[in-house]
Amino acid sequence: MSAGGPRTALVTGGSRGIGRACALALAGDGHRVALCYRADKEGAAETVTAITDSGGQALAVAADVSDPGALDGAMKEIESTWGPVQILVNNAGVTRDGLLMRMTDEQWGEVLHTNLDGAFYAIRRATPGMIRGRFGRIVNVGSASGATGSAGQVNYAAAKAGLLGLTRSVARELASRNVTCNLVAPGPIATAMFDGVSDERQAELTRLVPLARLGTPDEVGATVAFLCSEAAGYITGAAIPVDGGLSMGH
Ligand code: NDP
Repeated sequence: MSAGGPRTALVTGGSRGIGRACALALAGDGHRVALCYRADKEGAAETVTAITDSGGQALAVAADVSDPGALDGAMKEIESTWGPVQILVNNAGVTRDGLLMRMTDEQWGEVLHTNLDGAFYAIRRATPGMIRGRFGRIVNVGSASGATGSAGQVNYAAAKAGLLGLTRSVARELASRNVTCNLVAPGPIATAMFDGVSDERQAELTRLVPLARLGTPDEVGATVAFLCSEAAGYITGAAIPVDGGLSMGH
């Protein structure tokens, strides 16, 4: 249990992968964890069961983060169950890879709407409650590619780099209200998203990682949960890589 007692948390995209690991880590710290998902209802139910089976409290809500109205509905449901969201983890993300010259407006738009606009909508909706409660922890899940760039992913890298500017601006704007905002930037992590990368690119990325392996979702979840803890109260506007050393120097 965290020193400040149980808090109400929302993890976006908690139906699998890194989001699920974040939800489990926060529940392990004693927090009440809501998760939203867009389509993977079964996965979301599995996350909820994993938490409740170990004695925690969890709630799954369907909400597409790129739709501010849907997010508002999810937040209302969470607030009526547990009160205001005090911990927000913006994890929901998608890739729609393609070479620059062949990238369609749809590929560009979908990635920006989900990965960047979605985080903005969720932060904007959650902060009044955090300010009223004089406590807030926001963690945005970026990517090493936001710093290094990534061929074939101009949309994704731009969205992830945008999250850093969002993170640092929110950190400055809300610091006086005891609301922190940080970014965790994973390198290659073994999830469904990484499975979607070509074998060639997977091998290349793994070769570039000084620790010479993929990371696990739990390794990202542990870092996110730490940044959401009371102990991390003096950390804001930080970008923490969880990437086996991949982005060192960037
Ligand atoms: P997964 O594809 O395994 O999971 C993505 C999650 O996001 C799912 O729960 C999915 O739910 C949800 N999601 C996607 N779009 C939306 C949406 N519009 N609204 C709500 N939920 C949505 O990916 P990972 O776990 O690998 O990735 C999680 C985060 O980590 C992403 O932001 C990703 O960019 C980042 N990351 C991942 C890396 C990796 O190597 N895996 C490396 C660096 C960063 P549903 O299916 O229901 O839509």
